[in-house]
Amino acid sequence: MTAIGAPIRRQGPSGDGTILDRSVAGRRAWSLAPLDVPEAPIASEHARAGRPGLPEVAEVDLVRHYTGLAQMNYGLDTGMYPLGSCTMKYNPKVAETVAALPGFQRLHPLQPDTTVQGALELLWRLERALCEITGMARATLQPPAGACGEMTGLLLMRAYHEDRGEQRRRVIIPDSAHGTNPASVRLAGFEAVPVRSDARGLVDVGALAKMVDESVAGLMLTNPNTLGLFEEEIDEIAATIHGVGGLLYYDGANLNAILGRCRPGDMGFDIVHINTHKTFATPHGGGGPGAGPVGVNAGLVPYLPAPIVQKAGDGTFSLEHGGERSIGRMHGFHGNVGILVRAYSYVFLHGADGLKEVSELAALNANYLARLVKTDFPLAHPDMRPMHEFVATAKPLRDATGIKAMDVAKRVIDLGFHPSTVYFPLVVEEAMMVEPTETESKATLESFAEALRQAARDARERPEILREAPVTAPVRRLDEARAARALKLRW
Ligand SMILES: *Cc1c(COP(=O)(O)O)cnc(C)c1O
Repeated sequence: MTAIGAPIRRQGPSGDGTILDRSVAGRRAWSLAPLDVPEAPIASEHARAGRPGLPEVAEVDLVRHYTGLAQMNYGLDTGMYPLGSCTMKYNPKVAETVAALPGFQRLHPLQPDTTVQGALELLWRLERALCEITGMARATLQPPAGACGEMTGLLLMRAYHEDRGEQRRRVIIPDSAHGTNPASVRLAGFEAVPVRSDARGLVDVGALAKMVDESVAGLMLTNPNTLGLFEEEIDEIAATIHGVGGLLYYDGANLNAILGRCRPGDMGFDIVHINTHKTFATPHGGGGPGAGPVGVNAGLVPYLPAPIVQKAGDGTFSLEHGGERSIGRMHGFHGNVGILVRAYSYVFLHGADGLKEVSELAALNANYLARLVKTDFPLAHPDMRPMHEFVATAKPLRDATGIKAMDVAKRVIDLGFHPSTVYFPLVVEEAMMVEPTETESKATLESFAEALRQAARDARERPEILREAPVTAPVRRLDEARAARALKLRW
């Protein structure tokens, strides 16, 4: 580039603002045949004064603007995305093809049941599959996200206790829990009570036993937990909570470690939510859409949101509207059906054997990667074996060089990868939470490990590079605190 001179900067999205900045009065992206019917005036009560302020652009401007934006993005179709707890696996394109079939894509939610038997059968079969995978009796497919699944599950918990005339107000969650857990507990009208993790990174069972009494509505747990570790004393934990009449809620946002191997229902859980957009491969991030189905044991079925799909003796399917004890709706119509079609495709593409292989490879990949980087980034709990993800720490590097996990993450961007999650879980200093998923090859894992090791070498030899990073991304360091607090929802 230097020999032949820098390219003349083409008009692109970066630095050029929004599509409105490309607007030129009178430009149009359409060409319609001349009007051959009489023009009808808009009734005055519907007419607006002035122009709506839409961008006036040609088709080519539109295409280049949005293609340019897409090219600035980093996604699973461009590279590995080891964002811990997010399960950013490659999403097979066949699921997109199935979801785009006109029979699914052009459904109207108000069509009579008799005209949508195929779609209802798909929802019914997906529900059966998710119940089989989690060990639950029935499930609602309505919630549009994991966090909404949590809220649904907690409302079910509340309905269950209230039905027994009990006003239980406390829900116990481990201190390593995903941030949505305490938020959902509060939203559902409960008080969130943290239980501490012990030195192994597992729930401190002794501390838990001292906390429980009849004011406890239940416990929310992820297993393997947010540190990627399996709660070995899950039977004891379940007995402790059930012993005081509480319920066990399983945050199954990510089932990648247990698919086909063990089931929350068999561990003693009563309620489970699943993020189909994580485990069952739907592109996600940036806020949706997703699906967070919630499965429950037989005793909780009457409280499920409605409608759910029922299969009649003659093999036909219908939507059953809720009974008196149902908590009501969690979403308009039937949830994000397009996402559920993708989940169905994924489940039946793999079959039982394939799903079991998914969890095997997810754990193998995470453990292999953890070993490749442990000299520079040791595991936060080195005596424990992680499962589908691991939590390492940049603390030794920081103590030696002053370079923090955040600087490493930014350097990794310049080295061509999406970084891992950093500073979560909160209980680990300089946490780096890495989840490679099963879809990455050995070669890709090795190049990512090399990027992390390179970042560590740079931290020791030329730390200023890390403090400046990223220099190759469309945007440099963002003020993340301000971005989260000072929301600007319009331009
Ligand atoms: C992602 C995640 C959630 C939240 O799911 P959303 O679909 O983003 O609302 C909840 N719990 C855990 C453990 C997660 O990883």
